[in-house]
Amino acid sequence: MEVSSVTADRGEPILSVRDLRVEYLTSAGTVAAVDGASFELHAGESIALIGESGSGKTTLGLGLLRLLPKSGRTPAGEILYRRRDGRVVDVLRFSNEEMRRFRWQECAMVFQAAQNALNPVARVWDQMLDTVRAHRSDSRDKIRERCERLLGMVQLEPRRVLHAFPHELSGGMRQRVLIAMSLLLDPQILVLDEPTTALDILTQRAIIDVLRSLRTQLHFSMLFISHDLSLAAELADRVATMYAGKVVELGGVRDIFYDPKHPYTLGLINAVPPVAGDLYEISSIPGAPPSLLNLPSGCSFHPRCMYARERCTSDSPPLYSVNSGHTSACHYWSEVQLQRKLVETRD
Ligand code: SF4
Repeated sequence: MEVSSVTADRGEPILSVRDLRVEYLTSAGTVAAVDGASFELHAGESIALIGESGSGKTTLGLGLLRLLPKSGRTPAGEILYRRRDGRVVDVLRFSNEEMRRFRWQECAMVFQAAQNALNPVARVWDQMLDTVRAHRSDSRDKIRERCERLLGMVQLEPRRVLHAFPHELSGGMRQRVLIAMSLLLDPQILVLDEPTTALDILTQRAIIDVLRSLRTQLHFSMLFISHDLSLAAELADRVATMYAGKVVELGGVRDIFYDPKHPYTLGLINAVPPVAGDLYEISSIPGAPPSLLNLPSGCSFHPRCMYARERCTSDSPPLYSVNSGHTSACHYWSEVQLQRKLVETRD
């Protein structure tokens, strides 16, 4: 994995998520899919949310934009957003109209399996035009100019793509169209949910390059959700690991990948095969993520954790400060070491 060397201009946070709780009402009871998540996103910064399926990453992203299904609700917490004029507002208190304006203009989201998000019977130009017209009354010429510029920035041929129907484009091209579309109204924050899933490896590479370049040119902040650690390593300034609805580790990308301080993050890293250098033994995390309806006592990770002790079964760990900007929800974080076992090879 190549670890990102992009550094963000850290100032006042543009987004502060504080003790956010997101619940789903199910026939079996209430499930806390996100339980007390807190983090800050700064202007121009990129944060990756990593973890296995069901850890709460996507729910957190949907909760930020109030796009949860009907069974979802956010009973506790704050999502403080700093507008361009410096005013700080709580997204959770927005009226429906304020929320409509917030989406796309302030914060846009590129969804998981985004290739299917385009209208199959409308040309790309009509979809981009409708997106802008739903929020602004800009002239067609101005919209056209912006569309062409953004499509060029995502390495597409604007004139051809604008006149195409989605089925005339490859999966990678459709993904790029959606990224360009998400930036049409110049949002301060872009949320991407698994932006390279379902794409072949060369297309994934191209999307990573496009996102990196767009971020440099347009200076938006990025929150991306991924189970792909190599994507996080390349695009993130900071990484938040989620497990069972909680942020269990948060730190700079180098700290997380070279000096993780939570056994779950360590397990995720050890499960990634290297593509270059020495041959390592890959180890998976034993067991499966717990049911959110019946979480283990104490630290939710204890049934799967090789560092677990008696205390872990009863005491839920708080987020301990490891060093400046690096926190870990593990009682024994100081003992966690990144070790990868070399595989012996024969001539
Ligand atoms: S608190 Fe205990 S069970 Fe939880 S991650 Fe740390 S060592 Fe493992």
